[in-house]
Amino acid sequence: MADCLFCRIARKEIPAKIVYEDDRVMAFEDINPQAPAHTLVIPRQHFATLNDVGPGDEGLLGHMLLVAAGIAKEKGLHEKGYRLVANTLESAGQSVFHIHVHLLGGRRFAWPPG
Ligand code: AMP
Ligand code: ZN
Repeated sequence: MADCLFCRIARKEIPAKIVYEDDRVMAFEDINPQAPAHTLVIPRQHFATLNDVGPGDEGLLGHMLLVAAGIAKEKGLHEKGYRLVANTLESAGQSVFHIHVHLLGGRRFAWPPG
């Protein structure tokens, strides 16, 4: 989707603090961090929500999780712990309709989430 914010970040039309990229995914720092460490992992391919992925996307989705776990390790978050979040649709708090995994760390997180 040409005018999608995260598609534009993936095409580098909008600047972001990129921490990882390859041919399938990109990771960049959240502009409004909710924890000392807050990185977003997105696929380059546009999917509005997790309702739009399906069979055939397992590799991409698994890669997103591996990239998130790798960044967590690079940042040293793997020792105390971190949280991965994928808000899906409005009631879960999704505000950007291009799928993304939030990698949050550097503080304690409550459960259940708010
Ligand atoms: P969600 O609300 O789960 O859809 O998450 C969207 C996230 O994108 C929020 O945490 C925003 O702070 C973040 N965000 C919005 N615009 C930008 C941007 N230009 N660069 C980096 N992160 C952004
Ligand atoms: Zn998009």
